[in-house]
Parts: sequence; structure tokens; C-alpha cells
Amino acid sequence: MAVRYSVMKSTANHPDYKPSTITCACGMIYETFSTRGDFAVDICSNCHPFYTGKQKLLDSAGRVERFNRKYGRGGSKTGG
Ligand SMILES: [Zn+2]
Repeated sequence: MAVRYSVMKSTANHPDYKPSTITCACGMIYETFSTRGDFAVDICSNCHPFYTGKQKLLDSAGRVERFNRKYGRGGSKTGG
């Protein structure tokens, strides 16, 4: 019984993935596999404001505090 999967064919000419390092501007280095070799990025999950939350907290800290006071909620829960 012949079973043919397209994935079997694709493995014959798979891309040439090789160990690579991604270097971020913040100094973070990620080890991965890539067809393009080593390369650098300007931002990563280590330094992105979305992940660090620093910029976001600086901007919204006052509003959150006022909101909690207005509605009488404790501020024990950190947004995030
Ligand atoms: Zn980074």
C-alpha cells in the first residue's frame, strides 16, 4: 500500500539550517538555528518595553493609583 506524504518529499531538499547566534543591541545573545547565519537585532524580548514594562509603568502609575483610590480598590495587584 503506497502512502505518499508531501512532507516526505520536502525533507529531501530541506533548507540548510545551521546553528546561529542572534545578538541584540542590549547585549542579549540568543542561540538558534537559521538559514541566514549570525545576525543582530535592535530589540528583543529582554529589552522590549512590552516585556520589561518599565516605560509602561512610568506612564500609567499615576492613573492606576487614582483609579484604585476612586473605586476603593487595593493596589496589591500589579498590572501586567
Ligand atoms: Zn535586547
